Amino acid sequence: MFYFTKTPTFLKSLYKSCIWSFSPDVPTVYLTFDDGPHPKATPFVLEQLKKYNVKATFFCIGKNVVEHPEIYQQILLDGHAVGNHTHNHLNGWKTGTEAYLDNIKEAAKYIRSNLFRPPYGRISPFQIKQLKDDHKIIMWDILSADFDTSITGEDCLQNVVFKLQPGSIVVFHDSEKAWDRMSYALPRVLEHCARKGLRVEAIV
Ligand SMILES: [Zn+2]
Repeated sequence: MFYFTKTPTFLKSLYKSCIWSFSPDVPTVYLTFDDGPHPKATPFVLEQLKKYNVKATFFCIGKNVVEHPEIYQQILLDGHAVGNHTHNHLNGWKTGTEAYLDNIKEAAKYIRSNLFRPPYGRISPFQIKQLKDDHKIIMWDILSADFDTSITGEDCLQNVVFKLQPGSIVVFHDSEKAWDRMSYALPRVLEHCARKGLRVEAIV
């Protein structure tokens, strides 16, 4: 499996309408959690965030919100931000634009947000064009790679802390697949941020 744990500059410049990171002049980082709500992973994440009194952003799959409405409500009650991650986790490169936009609209019935993150980070320039006026398309500059079952929780932690800087947007997953690595890395990333004086905030 090939992926960049740190998004390279050429990729960012190809997709200028997307947000890849925020100002490096403010000591704030943005943790994001994709693919929930999940009955085990999401409550764990919420508990960890509460412990450090910080806020994050959850890019939810519409279908999972329908399955776990009470967990979705808890994310909102705890004061975190939510974003649309399509209704069925569609790959933009393999989906026609009309079907892709319809799927986002379906998810929007359950997820009220102008934030959008394309599943797999895969979205065509045409799809971006259709979405960018009504949405902030949030990508990332740091991938924890918690979805990669061939790495350890410690690897995942290092992927994050090694490259973390003010303004970073970090991707984790509140999902079954990422659980082993995310549940190891997240508490340690939060501890790292607290020690370094990095605020952890939701994307608005
Ligand atoms: Zn996803």
